[in-house]
Amino acid sequence: MIQGNCLCAAVKYEVTAESQMQGLCYCTDCQIIGGSSHWASYAVAPSDFRLLQGSLTEFAYDPGSGREVVRCFCDQCGTQIKVVSAELGVASVNAMTFSNSEAFSPKLTYFSGSAPAWCTVEAGLAKFEAMA
Ligand SMILES: [Zn+2]
Ligand SMILES: [Zn+2]
Repeated sequence: MIQGNCLCAAVKYEVTAESQMQGLCYCTDCQIIGGSSHWASYAVAPSDFRLLQGSLTEFAYDPGSGREVVRCFCDQCGTQIKVVSAELGVASVNAMTFSNSEAFSPKLTYFSGSAPAWCTVEAGLAKFEAMA
């Protein structure tokens, strides 16, 4: 069982399943929202994410795939906690908010072609070009 929280600790959650899809997403949306070259994605089924405390603000939009994506933030401090695609049945949880950082072990990359030129993409990770 993985537990995590946002920066201000108003939001606490747990993830009840082990992810089979752990990766780094270099899409430009994740870069803008995270202020970083990539998003640390721990993908599980939406029902495997349980909010224990606090509340999330949701931002729903179409990233260009024709499928709605919902980005969920702590309504107090703005930490992005998860990105959900109901259509794909995936909740991508922010692995950088885990209490135990060793629970995350990235195995693949998403949209590595969008990585900024100054950023080195870990060559040992498998490339997977899809939403996260
Ligand atoms: Zn917060
Ligand atoms: Zn992304």
